Amino acid sequence: MKKTFRDDWRVIIEIAPNATHIPISALGFEGLDGELAGLPFEVEIAPQRLGDLGWVSMSDRLASRDIDGDYRKRCEELLAELLKKPHVKSGRVTCKETHFCSHCDLGWEVLTAEEAADVSTNQDEHSVEGEPVCCEAGINEFRAERGIPALAESGGAA
Ligand SMILES: [Zn+2]
Repeated sequence: MKKTFRDDWRVIIEIAPNATHIPISALGFEGLDGELAGLPFEVEIAPQRLGDLGWVSMSDRLASRDIDGDYRKRCEELLAELLKKPHVKSGRVTCKETHFCSHCDLGWEVLTAEEAADVSTNQDEHSVEGEPVCCEAGINEFRAERGIPALAESGGAA
């Protein structure tokens, strides 16, 4: 079945320098006077790792039983805090999603309607749009859920 792996969580905010007075010392330029000016720009913030507890660092898997959910929550809380600032115009939480097959770990790809109807790309006459292409176990699982006849015995190692 299709599994989704999420990674690279980010909070992205749009900052409007002119909406308020941001001293450039806020950027770490200490001892300099002046204010930020210019067009709105985006800033990407990577959240603190779940396993980084400050006094000890462990893998995310040890620190959390719901890594995706906890990263999303952490990012949304951070975003909510940031949106209270007058110079933060808008923001969003993003992540990179990778889809893969739970049986063979290959990237998840499925047949299009045209491919399913084409004998050169389909498995057999029972192939339909959305059928995975990676492995026999994935295909037969997809078919079992829809009452479609399984693949004929291929005789190969599965
Ligand atoms: Zn597969």
